Amino acid sequence: MKNAMSQTIKILPESLANKIAAGEVIQRPASAVKELIENAIDAQAKSVAVIIEDGGKSLIQVVDDGTGMSIDDALIAFQRHATSKIATYDDLENITTLGFRGEALASISAVAQIEMITRIASSDTAVRVSNHSSSLIDYTACAGPVGTSVVAKNLFYNTPGRKNFLKSTPTEFKHVIDAVQRMAIAYPEIAWKFISNGETIFNLHPAPMAERLTDIFGERLTSSLLPIEQENELVRLRGFLSRPDFSRKTRTEQFLFLNRRYILNRSIAYAVVQGYENLLLRGTFPVFVLFLEINPRRIDINVHPTKMEVKFDDERSIYRVVAASVRKVLSASNLIPEFPEDKKVQDRSGATDMVPSVPFTKFPGQYVLNQDLSATVISRPEIPGHTDAGGSVVPLTDRPVELAKPDQMSQPGEIIADAGYTIQLFNKYILSIVEDGFYLIDQHAAHERVLYERAVDKITTRKPETQELLFPQTVQMSASDAALVKELLPLMQSLGFSLKFFSSSTIIIDGVPLDVKPGKERTILQDIIDAFKEDEHGIPLEPYERLAKSFACKAAIKSGDSLKGSEIHALIRQLFSCKIPFSCPHGRPVAIKYPLSDLDRRFGRSS
Ligand code: ADP
Ligand code: MG
Repeated sequence: MKNAMSQTIKILPESLANKIAAGEVIQRPASAVKELIENAIDAQAKSVAVIIEDGGKSLIQVVDDGTGMSIDDALIAFQRHATSKIATYDDLENITTLGFRGEALASISAVAQIEMITRIASSDTAVRVSNHSSSLIDYTACAGPVGTSVVAKNLFYNTPGRKNFLKSTPTEFKHVIDAVQRMAIAYPEIAWKFISNGETIFNLHPAPMAERLTDIFGERLTSSLLPIEQENELVRLRGFLSRPDFSRKTRTEQFLFLNRRYILNRSIAYAVVQGYENLLLRGTFPVFVLFLEINPRRIDINVHPTKMEVKFDDERSIYRVVAASVRKVLSASNLIPEFPEDKKVQDRSGATDMVPSVPFTKFPGQYVLNQDLSATVISRPEIPGHTDAGGSVVPLTDRPVELAKPDQMSQPGEIIADAGYTIQLFNKYILSIVEDGFYLIDQHAAHERVLYERAVDKITTRKPETQELLFPQTVQMSASDAALVKELLPLMQSLGFSLKFFSSSTIIIDGVPLDVKPGKERTILQDIIDAFKEDEHGIPLEPYERLAKSFACKAAIKSGDSLKGSEIHALIRQLFSCKIPFSCPHGRPVAIKYPLSDLDRRFGRSS
């Protein structure tokens, strides 16, 4: 029953309301650091210093040389919803500053002891504003440079519940350094200083982006980065990606910025990974620093108080652009790892905005981007009287000239001159000597890559090549495997299989793809299905890619298979006409190069 005399709903006093609201914006020292830095950048600072003690728990100070604030502004700035950055709804739809919610200073001052000193260029004196005595804001005039310094002490001193929630000093320090680092990456034109417990953690001068990344991540990582740049009417994309062989065990070196604001977005991060297709080993992640620029009217950054989440008008399109651009950069780069791995230190004197791209390496049969085999035939002397490989279908070779077998190579020098001298090692690797060094190629991985691209091509263009079997094979499978075959049947057919279902678990194979080696017709189907199922836990690929991958793996020559000279040459030629000859579809490397210059260096020869 309603008691007319008692009113149970009350409006909270502002100081309490601010403490509650603060919890959303300021979760830990790093969030206060981030907000204060955003204010400095919005105030057009050219240099920003961040000073913390005890991981920011006892002290945070951010000093900038930006515009500063007038006395009036300095006083009002601490009120909730006080902002100079937006005024109307239309402004909210078109945000071009990092801040706009007018909450940060109010939130920080609700949970910490604040002292701000600020001065605008048109004033002779600075003003000092603090909330020390009470929750009220005091101010006095003082001396100080143009710009703003905000000190926040003893974060959460008045909200013990939140204070207990803070982690150890090293953990909080790590969060702060991450926050500062992201800003330093997004704003390389700003000088950054970061001091923790009196120790200078970094001191970065304004620099082009590539140099800033080197300053932060070191030469080794940045020399592995490939520049990416792409633009359409929806989005401008630029940044850097790691070569696949530099991928990491964690995602911590993945940076995504939208309109220069660090954001978290799994879908776009995932689009990048998709762009690597199967260049990445399972469980490894690429390093990337990616800047997206999108018209602010087409995004909503006001999803969460920390402004790290975004909603896009058209996320699918952005996803597609990102994945396609990444794919393009990778397929246009030479990704063969060189040995030894530690890269020569790059000459920084000519450093530009871009990390220098990896020099193109010459390879027998030269690396080309299209799959037209005829365009990539290795020029090499015809050896008369060569014998055909014989037998029926030899899918590996496109019936090339039979090169001399190793034991016939009395004068390898002649052959090196034109085509490169190849030799199979341990029935596993192929050694290929070229003008400026030699390559070691993993025969299985190489053939897998060749068959994979061929299979993808057949499936997508629906141009199967089938070898009809003289004696159709009847195979028994589990009902669930057979059901999977049925599900994949259209793809299987475009790959070159000709199958009939006799019962729910009996399949008749009338024909197999041309790339299936004689003798494997009976087992290949079950092998593919097993591989297909195993692959389920990898990065999700389209079913046709998974099928192509499973097929390639099972139909490829194995480690341990002995190869004829003609097969070796055909394999190398086919490999280097692949789109992505650097890794097998599972992400393992296909080839490693040992440059001659490196041997020379190791043997102390100057050239
Ligand atoms: P917001 O950044 O969302 O506007 P804040 O609470 O962070 O809200 O800051 C309130 C206002 O105080 C800003 O809009 C800006 O006018 C002013 N301000 C805050 N920090 C600075 C600074 N470092 N330099 C100049 N002005 C500042
Ligand atoms: Mg702000």
